Amino acid sequence: NFAERSEEQVSGATVIAQALKTQDVEYIFGIVGIPVTEIAIAAQQLGIKYIGMRNEQAACYAASAIGYLTGRPGVCLVVSGPGLIHSLGGMANANMNCWPLLVIGGSPERNQETMGAFQEFPQAVRSSIYGRPGACYVDIPADFVNLQVNVNSIKYVERCMSPPISMAETSAVCTAASVIRSAKQPLLIIGKGAAYAHAEESIQKLVEQYKLPFLPTPMGKGVVPDNHPYCVGAARSRALQFADVIVLFGARLNWILHFGLPPRYQPDVKFIQVDICAEELGNNVKPAVTLLGDINAVTKQELASKKSLPMNYYTVFYHVQEQLPRDCFVVSEGANTMDIGRTVLQNYLPRHRLDAGTFGTMGVGLGFAIAAAMVAKDRSPGQRIICVEGDSAFGFSGMEVETICRYNLPIILLVVNNNGIYQGFDSDTWKEMLKFQDAASVVPPMCLLPNSHYEQVMTAFGGKGYFVQTPEELQRSLRQSLADTTKPSLINIMIEPQATRKTQDFHWLTRSNM
Ligand code: ADP
Ligand code: MG
Repeated sequence: NFAERSEEQVSGATVIAQALKTQDVEYIFGIVGIPVTEIAIAAQQLGIKYIGMRNEQAACYAASAIGYLTGRPGVCLVVSGPGLIHSLGGMANANMNCWPLLVIGGSPERNQETMGAFQEFPQAVRSSIYGRPGACYVDIPADFVNLQVNVNSIKYVERCMSPPISMAETSAVCTAASVIRSAKQPLLIIGKGAAYAHAEESIQKLVEQYKLPFLPTPMGKGVVPDNHPYCVGAARSRALQFADVIVLFGARLNWILHFGLPPRYQPDVKFIQVDICAEELGNNVKPAVTLLGDINAVTKQELASKKSLPMNYYTVFYHVQEQLPRDCFVVSEGANTMDIGRTVLQNYLPRHRLDAGTFGTMGVGLGFAIAAAMVAKDRSPGQRIICVEGDSAFGFSGMEVETICRYNLPIILLVVNNNGIYQGFDSDTWKEMLKFQDAASVVPPMCLLPNSHYEQVMTAFGGKGYFVQTPEELQRSLRQSLADTTKPSLINIMIEPQATRKTQDFHWLTRSNM
């Protein structure tokens, strides 16, 4: 009956408890006393668990860990004065850990009459979980706890929504992906921010797709299991010291990580920093790339960008090197293809590398490969010839593929295709360029037709042809080509048309003591 209900009275304590319940608070830790005892009882009556502790500091530590574990703030309930002072340690710790926490302290009575709707909780909850999580303090005046108010006069502000998920800038995501791909010794550092962000599934995918060694911080442990083959926790110091690219996933470069500085790190190590807190970016070191956003969302962005992004030379050669038989011949020609390939692809035997040579001749590769195949056939059967060609270089004597097929030579041709000599254009730019004008007047001299299917030169003569755009496709086609000893193959590898080599660093020539 409405008349009856409208007269129903509730205490301030119940209002507080209900406001907490509305905010999804499940646990309260604390030590009661005047004036907060009633709040604890009211909370229990509403189904919130109250855990009485022996010291406010421990209560506060416990409540903050609830925040870390559940993503909604745990509550620490304390009395005024010493109670609040004891809880300061826990608040500081929560803030330093970036963990959400709500501390509710009772204070002496106010002189004002009423307080109205209890607005502070949603605000406190929001500031504890939004942005960088941390501690929040709500002060409850004693007289409010025991105040009787008409139930209909109370309006609870609805549950504060989970924090909005923010993503990093797309260009930074791409830059990060290419920095990671060109790294020689990449390392992922997984911090407790990653754990808090529930990023375990996506980070594990990233680790496996990029083949990234990772190091968990103490509380980052378990985001990817410690027994994962890429975990380098056992060699922590070495991993830190020799990494050339480090991705920080929710870990700060503070004392735990030796501030990111030498001698624990390479002086020129590139940091890629992922954090939800803008102020944290660039702390102690100047990062090569900063990704401001939620770790889980940013990791997914990285995973997506990896699929769509064309590979660069380093990615290609990294995957090729992984599978190269130690005794193979490496024949190579091209500009960047030959130069970068030489630094990444390893030779273990003398007279097993043939390239453009003293005269810098293009068009020698297929002839050299055929000669190597003849020698290999006669002297060490089973030996393979890997011929790494730039797309332009391949064009100089591509018809020798017919010769290779005619004699069924054990040659695997890799055409590293960037649509041009030195550099080319992607097909969109190409179309744009040809819209209004005749090709001969606008196409830059170094451009070749984009996305040419050179692998069809091989299939035309009965060999195996592959057109690959991703590291996975490259790995798979190379594995198949190496396994198939009955046919020559050609893998046409599309890379970023504008990819170049890393800038040269001649620091040893400019050292003052030389
Ligand atoms: P550790 O002690 O494991 O190295 P830190 O406490 O130093 O971890 O770093 C945690 C970092 O994670 C903080 O800088 C914090 O801002 C960040 N962080 C917390 N939650 C998220 C999130 N959801 N997305 C991105 N970064 C987050
Ligand atoms: Mg840290």
